[in-house]
Amino acid sequence: MSRPTGARVALALLAAALLAAPLGAQQRRRSIAPAQRGAARIPTPRSVLGFDPGDDRKLADWPTLLRYYQALARASDRVRYRELGKTTLGAPFVALAISSPGNLRRLDLYRRLNDRLADPRTLKTGRDAQESLRDGKTVVLITSGIHSREVGGNLAPVLLAYRLASDTSAATRAILDNVILWLVPSLNPDGVTIVTRWYNRTLGTPAEGSDPPELYHHYTGHDNNRDWYAFTQVETRLTVDSLYNVWHPQIALDIHQQESDGSRLFLPPYLDPVEPNVDPLLVDGVNALGASIAWALAQQGKTGIAINAVYDAWTPARAYQHYHGAVRVLAEAAGADLASPIDIPFDELATRGRGFNPRQRSWNFTNPWPGGRWTLRDIVSYQTEAAFAVLEDAARERDRWLAAFLAVGGRAVRGWKGWPYAYVIPRQRQDSVGLATLLGILHRGQVEIRTALHPVALGGQRYPAGSYVVVLRQPYAAFAKTLLEPQHYPDLRLYPGGPPQPPYDVTAHTLPLLMGVTAVPAPDSLRVSLSAPVEPPQPTPGYPGLREGEAPRVALYRSYDASMDEGWTRWVFDTWHVPYQSLVDSVVRAGKLTEKFDVIVLPDASPHELLDGLSIRYPPPYSGGIGADGVRALRRFVEDGGTLVALNDASRFAVQQLLLPVRNVLEGVPDDDFYAPGSIFRLELDASDPIARGMPAQSIAWFEGGPAFEVVDSSAVRVIGRYPADPERVLLSGWVLHPERVAGKAALLEVRVGSGRVVLFGFRPQYRGQSIATYPLLFNSLQLTAR
Ligand SMILES: [Zn+2]
Repeated sequence: MSRPTGARVALALLAAALLAAPLGAQQRRRSIAPAQRGAARIPTPRSVLGFDPGDDRKLADWPTLLRYYQALARASDRVRYRELGKTTLGAPFVALAISSPGNLRRLDLYRRLNDRLADPRTLKTGRDAQESLRDGKTVVLITSGIHSREVGGNLAPVLLAYRLASDTSAATRAILDNVILWLVPSLNPDGVTIVTRWYNRTLGTPAEGSDPPELYHHYTGHDNNRDWYAFTQVETRLTVDSLYNVWHPQIALDIHQQESDGSRLFLPPYLDPVEPNVDPLLVDGVNALGASIAWALAQQGKTGIAINAVYDAWTPARAYQHYHGAVRVLAEAAGADLASPIDIPFDELATRGRGFNPRQRSWNFTNPWPGGRWTLRDIVSYQTEAAFAVLEDAARERDRWLAAFLAVGGRAVRGWKGWPYAYVIPRQRQDSVGLATLLGILHRGQVEIRTALHPVALGGQRYPAGSYVVVLRQPYAAFAKTLLEPQHYPDLRLYPGGPPQPPYDVTAHTLPLLMGVTAVPAPDSLRVSLSAPVEPPQPTPGYPGLREGEAPRVALYRSYDASMDEGWTRWVFDTWHVPYQSLVDSVVRAGKLTEKFDVIVLPDASPHELLDGLSIRYPPPYSGGIGADGVRALRRFVEDGGTLVALNDASRFAVQQLLLPVRNVLEGVPDDDFYAPGSIFRLELDASDPIARGMPAQSIAWFEGGPAFEVVDSSAVRVIGRYPADPERVLLSGWVLHPERVAGKAALLEVRVGSGRVVLFGFRPQYRGQSIATYPLLFNSLQLTAR
């Protein structure tokens, strides 16, 4: 907007927009009030981006989007721009506060009023509560773009912010008066630029519309939306610390995209199972709100909207809100090929989605989409209108949202019948990094941690004074409880007696198991004095023998068919200061690997992904995987004394391609005969083995689609870890069907090949940066050939 020509163009465009038919939604909603004085100064998206969000084949990188939001905040007294910190790759991570100018001037007052509702213990009198309920505003957090290839989510916030800054309709004024909106235009700014650059580079080539050949979040890719309790990534931490924990939204909307051949838009209610510690009032709230948005969009003539489909509400990994007094609305618009339009005839829509059929009318899919062309404009329209409908509901139902928010906090503070009174977490004999990390997670989730001032007697055990205590009568007790207890995932089937119905994500999240920590539930009051809330210790990750200068030469295989497990492994290595080099296909194929490396780690990926990589649609050097040449080079590396460490599914690649004398007992076994979709198993270790050094004889394994082994030639194979022989003892948390299939089978073993070896993990020892209990198994494997 600094150039006068740009301003003139913007003015002309705005005038044209006002003269021509106004936005369809607004027209149907209400007549447009006369333009506010000065509203014409609000910069249009086109004036900064150079195109209208939704135009085919047009994307903006993060610096360009930031320029728009900054221009908007300069021009509008309804918008404030805040930089919350820097992303993983150093870009600004920002949020916009949007409300009426009067509300924005008194933001601090509204934060304090809302703070009191969030923690009912701070309400000293009935008058305090009434005042907060009467004068408070509904706080809404809208987050977008966490999954950067869902490109509508990178642009819809532009349209939403522009509408809220410029529109003068009664609906918008009601929103501005009654709602304080925090808008995070991208939860993953780095990915906006990664995807935009890749898209623009491949435009007009066979690779147009393809995924970039790298993770769109530096460490976690798509798993950045599985980090809402572990808080490993800086973007998660900034959002939780600066927005959730300060502003305590009643409503959180997260804007996404889904497959292109299902519904045009998914909205809650979610499918079962809903995680049982979520307050029922929040479930009722999200059910009502999702249906209300769907109704509003249907009134605008939008079709193909599914509710109560596809997405369940089990894991807290995507739902910080559910444990912090807010409803979480997931809005998932159908995708196209990034910004390129697609055509989907009706008879090519999926015949069956979870919970509905995209070709058939049902109670939760009332008006099927007829098929045809589907464009970025459609995507951003569904997303923007859904966000606007959320805000209208938040404004209209302000009283109920605030009252429900207070009720949820009140129930948590009083405590739920049938819940333990507290958890006791002793300091002694614990994994110190695990203990500090676990306590740090609870603390960041605003759980109060105290210490016992005297010894605690519990279940025939005595825990010394100083033990940590988490009392489950506090505002965010549900967050603590769900993370400290084992999960019992319900036995859900596609139809009675049929195969299992897969969870949307995984089924377990028990932190004490994952982090090697003891946490003991206390059914009743401990009868000892407790300290005031304490700060947990800081974890100091580091592993003997793996520091710079003393470590073996580690290579971490990095496929262009980007593997999230590779990213997580890189994150673990970086966090624990383990030196390594990334290893790409061309270097593997070129061979002579022993000259450069002592150890090669293959992160979790299927044999097909590892061998074949990306399709020939991709330009060099991205297409093709390890290939036959790479397999020969890996074999030579091992025979010449190298160590190959294969994680989870990559172990199947190693067994198949290097013809190792072990058999995967789960190869080709259908879900009916064995199923464990992300569960915590018991692992029995040979503590005398170098790979199990420093480990207890009993540990855990994060089981998720990996192999389980039988040894074919015991002269070449050493078993380091097994699942228990008793099938009843296999599962510690989550879900398993037919554990007898893996009972007694090997989970971790070492195979001698020539003068080197292959270490096979049948599980994920560094699962999403959470399974700290089993990191030593991975770290010890790296040191087998230390110089
Ligand atoms: Zn998504």
